[in-house]
Amino acid sequence: MAVVSMCGTAAGRPTGTPYAGHVTVNADSSISDPTWNTWRDLPAAQQPDYPDPAALRAVLKELEGYPPLVFAGEADQLRQRLGAVARGEAFLLQGGDCAEAFDQITAEQIRAKLKTLLQMSAVLTYAAAVPVVKVGRIAGQYSKPRSRPDETRDGVTLPSYRGDSVNGADFTAAARVPDPERLRRMYHSSAATLNLVRGFTTGGYADLRQVHAWNQDFVRNSASGQRYEALAREIDNALNFMKACGADPAEFHSVEFYASHEALLLDYETALSRVDSRTGTLYDVSAHMVWIGERTRQLDGAHIEFASRIRNPVGIKLGPGTTPEEALSYIERLDPEREPGRLTFITRYGADRIRDLLPGLVEKVTASGAQVAWVCDPMHGNTFEAASGHKTRRFDDVLDEVKGFFEVHRSLGTHPGGIHVELTGDDVTECVGGGDEIFVDDLHQRYETACDPRLNRSQSLDLAFLVAEMYRA
Ligand code: PEP
Ligand code: MN
Repeated sequence: MAVVSMCGTAAGRPTGTPYAGHVTVNADSSISDPTWNTWRDLPAAQQPDYPDPAALRAVLKELEGYPPLVFAGEADQLRQRLGAVARGEAFLLQGGDCAEAFDQITAEQIRAKLKTLLQMSAVLTYAAAVPVVKVGRIAGQYSKPRSRPDETRDGVTLPSYRGDSVNGADFTAAARVPDPERLRRMYHSSAATLNLVRGFTTGGYADLRQVHAWNQDFVRNSASGQRYEALAREIDNALNFMKACGADPAEFHSVEFYASHEALLLDYETALSRVDSRTGTLYDVSAHMVWIGERTRQLDGAHIEFASRIRNPVGIKLGPGTTPEEALSYIERLDPEREPGRLTFITRYGADRIRDLLPGLVEKVTASGAQVAWVCDPMHGNTFEAASGHKTRRFDDVLDEVKGFFEVHRSLGTHPGGIHVELTGDDVTECVGGGDEIFVDDLHQRYETACDPRLNRSQSLDLAFLVAEMYRA
């Protein structure tokens, strides 16, 4: 399987250099507290090289004064929900774009993504018979780690695109210069997105009967959906039974939905960190949950240090090179109190390796007594380059990795706590396969991702129904 340079491959984890840039930026604000800036003395991988540090300082200073995007109490609530995941009492569905893009923030796009996640969640809730914790890769997923710092096209080499929060995707020298103004735009884009998400999830749009009706449409009107008729009918019966009983709980009419992104740009995340007045502890208020990526999870690096200082629930992406000892060190560093829900291990091994490599990791972590949430990212270990040059993933590999994840946890008696997927609500052609099959030759038709290939709407629903069937196997 060819592995191409992208945010989704594990090739080469740069160790970075100490990030000395602008230690005095917060000198007259609360964030100047030295205990919160400890990451600045450590190697910080994947940080942009801004040509104008003064401009960066000015933007960060403003960001420090902006209102929080989420509240500390909400982050606490998610930590509790993830605690249930860690204990085997809930399932996590985390999904959204690989990279959000500033020019894709439309009501239609956000609604389609949310609708897809809610439909998946309804099916999974029924099949797993436990609450599904819904977390979007949304409202802040603008920064991308890259396997290579440069990109060459037709003999021309330019710095890599690092996400809309850093530089532009256009292949021109001007677009690729890191611009700190983009951090401000990231904040406003996140705020606009989150505002609509909150509206949709609490304003009636997320009504469970409506979500179920969308699933019935999918089952009736798509070739792939027809296979799930029996399951959809069971859900329908369950809802009719509830209705006949006169039960109409508030939970049917709104949903709890959380926002997450990779905490990659530490300047931004630090500028968006606030001390919670209730507890005096630090929260990253740019998202309810943040995760540290495969390329920036060095134990002695800045990202793990930053994560250790905030009280939010934190995820770490773990690739096939992760040793059990490393995993135990993450627990020591990030979850010294052994609090279920604080730490989520998001494994992304690839379908061909998960069955061999995951058991050793899970066994050691379990033996240590720690209760982490185990989540499967079946996307990033299964990427390859099609002959056409498109980065893509096979739906069958994605499904197989999830199957392997369930098999491993079942055989060890641990809880397969959830899935972390790159998806969109639109009918894009980025991953091959699925019930409404996308062929390699179709990839060019609607290949719109700003970074890695996403499951489209029908592939996402397919995945949810197939995972649901795994629960019943
Ligand atoms: C991602 O989630 O888009 C990503 C870059 O993943 P990873 O850090 O696991 O490679
Ligand atoms: Mn990705």
